[in-house]
Amino acid sequence: MQEVVSELRSAGIRRILLDEPMSNHTTWKIGGPADLFVVPETKQQLADTINILHRHRVPWMKIGRGSNMLVLDKGIRGAVVKLGGGLDYASIADSTVTAGAAYGLIKLSVVAGKAGLTGLEFAGGIPGSVGGAVYMNAGAHGSDISRILASVEVLDETGKFARWSASDLCFAYRHSKLQQTSVVVTEAVFQLAYGDRKEIAAAMAAHKNRRLQTQPLQSACAGSVFRNPENQHAAKLIEQAGLKGTRVGGAEISPLHANFIVNVANATANDVLTLIELIQNKIFALYKVRLIPEVLVVGER
Ligand code: FAD
Repeated sequence: MQEVVSELRSAGIRRILLDEPMSNHTTWKIGGPADLFVVPETKQQLADTINILHRHRVPWMKIGRGSNMLVLDKGIRGAVVKLGGGLDYASIADSTVTAGAAYGLIKLSVVAGKAGLTGLEFAGGIPGSVGGAVYMNAGAHGSDISRILASVEVLDETGKFARWSASDLCFAYRHSKLQQTSVVVTEAVFQLAYGDRKEIAAAMAAHKNRRLQTQPLQSACAGSVFRNPENQHAAKLIEQAGLKGTRVGGAEISPLHANFIVNVANATANDVLTLIELIQNKIFALYKVRLIPEVLVVGER
């Protein structure tokens, strides 16, 4: 690993951490150490990082804001790559919004709304990065990324940049083709529409109030743990099963929102996984429905 680190340093990358606890990089505040945690600041540094890791056969994964991720307690073997400040930008030209993949989705929805552009109101409470949101086809309040994305710029494992149109991404509910590839999204272009600033602000305020009332936003969590089964709501099934408030170690099924698991007292990933399995078993026993996690489980147990 020493050789990899010195090549990364030669490429100008300054933020290189060894045995970095992933609990510092996930909204659940859970996760064992990554062998190597690298933050390339620019697109060129990102391309160099991927190239170096590839050449040294170091397995790697990318992370955004860690808001949809359960990193297991023994952590991640290999490298975790997080995009740095040079990919944290946004600009607006007419009704087209272009954002670097590290830019925050919440901030983007605010910036677009203030510019009188409609289409991103749904994203005002989704604490991910633009890259993670495109990868997940994040959505809420009856909309999602697929409705407004025009194209993405991606970087592949050979270090080549390409532009993919949104129609190439095979979007579905919390799904995009990106989930079957190892490319890194570096930029996204959104096509919004002109709207009424007051109406946009009112819609965003209404979404925010609803979230504040129905979601445990003061606690460390990762949003909805399970995907909604077709024509059903995971939260409703879990609530009907009487599981709200169930606790394993430091992890608890939120008494406010049954599809959220909150870290109430230094929970381990194992606590969360045990709760996930407990929910799946009970819901299958009661309703013959198999709940599938929406959160991504990575690392070693
Ligand atoms: P991460 O969790 O860091 O990563 C998710 C996946 O994306 C990983 O596989 C990662 O490898 C990949 N990825 C990250 N960046 C890139 C990139 N640049 N290129 C390629 N792949 C990348 N989600 C919803 O859909 N709707 C909601 O309403 C919602 N509400 C939430 C509320 C709360 C309080 C929280 C904590 C989470 C919520 N989420 C919601 C979940 C989460 O915010 C979204 O899934 C978000 O899009 C994840 O973005 P991220 O940057 O945190 O991705």
